[in-house]
Amino acid sequence: MQAAARRSATPKSVGPAVQNDPSSVRASADDHALLAALPIAAAIVGQTSRGVLCLIDRNSRFDEVIALTGDEAMMSGDFRQCQHLGIAQLMQEFLADFDATNELDFCEGEGIGARYFRIKLAPLSRCAKGRPRCLVSLVDRTVEVQAERTLRAEMLRDSLTGLPNRLSFTETIEIKGSTSARDCEYAVLVVDMLRFSRINESMGSLAGDELLITFARRLISALRGGDVLARTGGNEFGILVGLKRGVEDALAAAERIQQVMATPFKLSELEIRIECGIGVALMQAGQDPEELFRNAQFAVKQAKAAGKPQVYEPKEASAARRRFSIETELRRALDKDQLKLFYQPLINLKSGEVAGFEALARWNHEDRGEISPTEFIPVAEESGLILQLGRWAMDKAAQTVAEWDREAGAPLPLYVGVNLSAIQVARDNIADVVESALRSSGLKGERLTLELTESSIVQDPGRAMRVFEALKALDATVAMDDFGTGYSSLAYLQRLPIDVLKIDKSFVTGMMRDPDAVAIVRAVLSLADALGMSTTAEGIETVELATTLAALGCSSGQGFYFARPLEAQAALEYWKSRRRH
Ligand code: C2E
Ligand code: CA
Ligand code: CA
Repeated sequence: MQAAARRSATPKSVGPAVQNDPSSVRASADDHALLAALPIAAAIVGQTSRGVLCLIDRNSRFDEVIALTGDEAMMSGDFRQCQHLGIAQLMQEFLADFDATNELDFCEGEGIGARYFRIKLAPLSRCAKGRPRCLVSLVDRTVEVQAERTLRAEMLRDSLTGLPNRLSFTETIEIKGSTSARDCEYAVLVVDMLRFSRINESMGSLAGDELLITFARRLISALRGGDVLARTGGNEFGILVGLKRGVEDALAAAERIQQVMATPFKLSELEIRIECGIGVALMQAGQDPEELFRNAQFAVKQAKAAGKPQVYEPKEASAARRRFSIETELRRALDKDQLKLFYQPLINLKSGEVAGFEALARWNHEDRGEISPTEFIPVAEESGLILQLGRWAMDKAAQTVAEWDREAGAPLPLYVGVNLSAIQVARDNIADVVESALRSSGLKGERLTLELTESSIVQDPGRAMRVFEALKALDATVAMDDFGTGYSSLAYLQRLPIDVLKIDKSFVTGMMRDPDAVAIVRAVLSLADALGMSTTAEGIETVELATTLAALGCSSGQGFYFARPLEAQAALEYWKSRRRH
């Protein structure tokens, strides 16, 4: 609503109140009284018989404010000649329809001398000749507007460094973002001064403040024209950088920052070296500025860990990258025989003895540490490496048990469960794999349990049937793993030669607080009973679960309450420790 009119704000004498138009409307005594009683600058405006605006009456405060506007036409009451055409239009429209807009802000002058006004209209009763009239009030808002501006400037500035603050920074990102049509036209860098709190604590907050100011100055020296620097947190700075060549420009800026920080800082006679973490996030078109900033903050965390600037990667991209590198490294680990097989005891819930073990793959990666099978098994399945991994697990498990037997001098009364992926069932010759493991270890088929999931049946029930029967022909036991989580049909369950149902740990875990989970477990137990199968409960973490499941008639169970998966030797020791005789 600001108008471009320029004029001196010197008060001038106010002209005649009423236009000398014969058809104009005269003020009544009541009008006078009303205006005199009002504590604000007010006037009454109406229309002549020709529809021309006319000033009917006004109070002395109105004159005072009008004088401040310096608009001579306003002073003479000739609104049509006002410098701000909007004022006449506002009045005309309001007089024609009292529901029309009734407020207008305008300003006179520029810069420090600018004055701000608000004009407001309210309906009044019609004049004696039936023409509409309205009450016009005029407010000088100059002080208010200036206070608002100062307050806003204060709100947007960091008082220590004088830089824009976080609020202002995100506003700037938003403005730039709204004009950028392509991805990667801008980047946000977040620079975090490392170990600042230590310095602040040991040298005092004054020294800390001084350091922040010097740090900010150095940052400025590393910027290019058009870059925007802000202090976005205690020891955190944000920089908005325009990009011409994409991410390279952002990394070049990070490089310049590291260069300017390389020289030690002088702090009350001391020289200290300051390192910083730099995170980069590239702006995508239409991206929320807060999100962009958070991405850069996330990259800073990674930068601190990596010891060099990091560019934020969206979750999917980094997950895909990790999957890809896991695949490459898993292939190498398999070739170098770096995977291990651990054994989790399966407890006979009646006798408390160890009935057998489930063999579980473990991968301790030299750089990444322990990688969970819930992460690498799906990668192995996707890449086909599961065939190699599956054969390895089968051979290894059979060999381990055969070794235990040899050590004991006789076959031990225990079995080993080996997991078979649905991909192996679909793509490998499982019977061959099992047979060759048995042959080379010398183990009997009855010592092996093969854990298959419902997904291996769903894909190709005919093939599954042949595989299951081939396994039975080798005297192996067949267990249905994760029972209850897939889409098993009772018809298959009845038709396939399944010996054991393994109740998925999600039901077992829920049993103590969820009556529905108990009902499901009960149902599975009676189903197994009806079909002549035995049951193994997974995920028993407490003594209460162990006793409850035993009371419900579940034959065996595994879980952290008894033991975590153990290395072969420890597993055998555990078996011995739980023997009754
Ligand atoms: P699964 O066959 O359901 O194996 C049981 C999982 O439950 C194991 O996780 C085991 O460590 C975990 N577990 C056992 N007791 C408890 C407990 O009390 N509480 C909790 N929270 N968890 C318990 P793990 O070893 O991480 O294996 C995950 C999955 O990876 C296995 O689930 C299996 O599907 C797959 N897997 C592991 N090794 C192999 C393998 O050699 N071949 C194939 N095909 N799959 C494997
Ligand atoms: Ca299993
Ligand atoms: Ca399971």
